[in-house]
Amino acid sequence: MNKFDVVVIGAGAAGLFCAAEAGKRGRSVAVLDHAKKIGRKILMSGGGRCNFTNMYATHENYLCTNPHFCKSALSRYTQWDFISLVAEHGIAYHEKTLGQLFCDDSAADIVNLLVSECSKANVTITTRCEIQSVAKTESGFALSTSMGDYECESLVIATGGLSLPKLGATPFGYKIAEQFGIRVLPTRAGLVPFTLHEKDKEILAELSGVAIDTYASCNGTTFRENTLFTHRGLSGPAMLQISSFWHPGDTLHINAAPTFDVAESLAEAQLKNPDSLITTWLAKHFPKRVAATFCELNNWENKPVKQLNSREVSAIANFFEDWQIQPNGTEGYRTAEVTLGGVDTDELSSKTMMSKKVEQLFFIGEVVDVTGWLGGYNFQWAWSSGWAAAQYV
Ligand SMILES: Cc1cc2nc3c(=O)[nH]c(=O)nc-3n(C[C@H](O)[C@H](O)[C@H](O)COP(=O)(O)OP(=O)(O)OC[C@H]3O[C@@H](n4cnc5c(N)ncnc54)[C@H](O)[C@@H]3O)c2cc1C
Repeated sequence: MNKFDVVVIGAGAAGLFCAAEAGKRGRSVAVLDHAKKIGRKILMSGGGRCNFTNMYATHENYLCTNPHFCKSALSRYTQWDFISLVAEHGIAYHEKTLGQLFCDDSAADIVNLLVSECSKANVTITTRCEIQSVAKTESGFALSTSMGDYECESLVIATGGLSLPKLGATPFGYKIAEQFGIRVLPTRAGLVPFTLHEKDKEILAELSGVAIDTYASCNGTTFRENTLFTHRGLSGPAMLQISSFWHPGDTLHINAAPTFDVAESLAEAQLKNPDSLITTWLAKHFPKRVAATFCELNNWENKPVKQLNSREVSAIANFFEDWQIQPNGTEGYRTAEVTLGGVDTDELSSKTMMSKKVEQLFFIGEVVDVTGWLGGYNFQWAWSSGWAAAQYV
């Protein structure tokens, strides 16, 4: 029998950080993970450089059924606390854009930071450990695993969401919640590329690899970032961001001309270069391939701009300023960065992350119905929620 004060299930960002912080409080802590390697999502995050936090993170950068829930943890362990820890470990980092902080060298620096913090705090980490059952006992919890039985006073569930099943994602955390009568809200893939209906896909596939500056809007939320055309559909930061706000059947609104007034620019072309073709005018503002494809998409005849009447000018302006496209779906958990939904925050204390129903059962990180925008916010939630639980396990 392995006896610990605290068992954390899941050796990802939230689980490892929580374990280290609990260990520092003098608690004996074991982290169990079924995967071969710890922190696999961290290693592949941010294109291998891990966007480990965001300088401007606030509760407003998160989707949650209760928008106030994440305030407490985020304000008690902030991005500045984690940035100090990164600096203490001598990890070089830089801001890429919009407050997003990335390692200069490698995401492995963040995994090494977590391993070193865990080892300072005498945390035991066991990989390839299948959890067979979890039961409540009088003094805490009893676990039966492929590596033997465990007993603990506090149990922390940090098994993440459903995205990237190839990296070891499972619905384990949701099942444990349900086993203890804790509500789980419906889940869906977030920060994920869109797939398109056949007709749009065929035309837009021509643009595969091209990115354009856009405003992307859906259900009252707008992001100003790049949209990337792919051979499957639409991706890039603007599309990933807006995907978290999109539901099947919704239409996306894309402003593909955020930096200039289309009608004004066309009127100027009519005056100064009346014989130039629509595609020539378009090519001034967009990559060449975009000009031809957008003409095809809209069945615009490629005629000299002087032949455009005011109805046609406003149709062109409307298209660029409010291009409406209805995706046929998303690429789903196979490529999603996060899972929306999860353990209902009404079931947890926002201060401790402990279940209101089951004493000393904690849920942290992505398994909880708190999902950050793209840009380092999800790791910050892992650190903040992990730290909050670590003070009470
Ligand atoms: C490709 C990609 C890139 C990303 N880039 C960024 C980024 O740059 N910045 C950012 O903020 N966020 C990023 N994210 C999101 C971020 O990785 C997650 O939000 C974060 O890892 C969640 O941490 P977590 O500890 O809750 O879960 P995870 O990191 O997913 O860890 C869960 C752990 O639980 C283990 N586990 C699962 N099921 C079981 C089970 N049944 N038994 C035992 N163990 C189990 C898993 O093996 C895993 O080790 C990215 C995600 C992906 C997929």
